[in-house]
Amino acid sequence: MTSRLTVIAGPTAVGKGTVIKHILDNYPQVKLSVSATTRAPRPGEVDGVSYHFLSTDAFDAKIAAGQMLEYAVVHGANKYGTLREPVEQALAAGEQIILEIDIQGARQVKAAMPEANLIFIAPPSWEELVHRLTGRGTESAEEQARRLETARTELAAQGEFDHVVINDEVAECARRIVELMQD
Ligand code: 5GP
Repeated sequence: MTSRLTVIAGPTAVGKGTVIKHILDNYPQVKLSVSATTRAPRPGEVDGVSYHFLSTDAFDAKIAAGQMLEYAVVHGANKYGTLREPVEQALAAGEQIILEIDIQGARQVKAAMPEANLIFIAPPSWEELVHRLTGRGTESAEEQARRLETARTELAAQGEFDHVVINDEVAECARRIVELMQD
């Protein structure tokens, strides 16, 4: 049985990572696709688990070989992409698989697979988003400014999604997403 792909996007610092971790911890039937990226690992990130960390040359070779389902330059800096083969295998096996990718990638997936279910996680307000981004303190001021700029553009694109879920409470946001995956 082939299952339907779920794509989750939303602006930086909206809490996507926390919501997705909650889903993976509490709904074991749901699997997360591991993306490839050219950015350097952050402390604690594990190659093959957090991301497949690739050099720019290795990433470009996969694009040229048609092995990327989608890819994009995110925050004007690094390339991020979804490897086609593991996703196609998971769908063919009937698994419930989530892609956590940016808006440009979400558009590419929708174009390639119109049946994909696109879910946008939105913040309760713009002020709350700024507060969450500056509060986590993992990015430089310059990087924060770049990410807020991307966030502004991304928020404007939420109408392109099949569903919008507001992350005001993690467990509730996660529950709604899993419910929408059954649609
Ligand atoms: P971070 O550097 O914080 O791990 O991720 C930055 C952004 O890259 C996130 O907003 C995430 O949605 C996006 N991203 C992660 N993996 C992929 C991917 O495979 N494809 C695309 N298009 N975006 C991705």
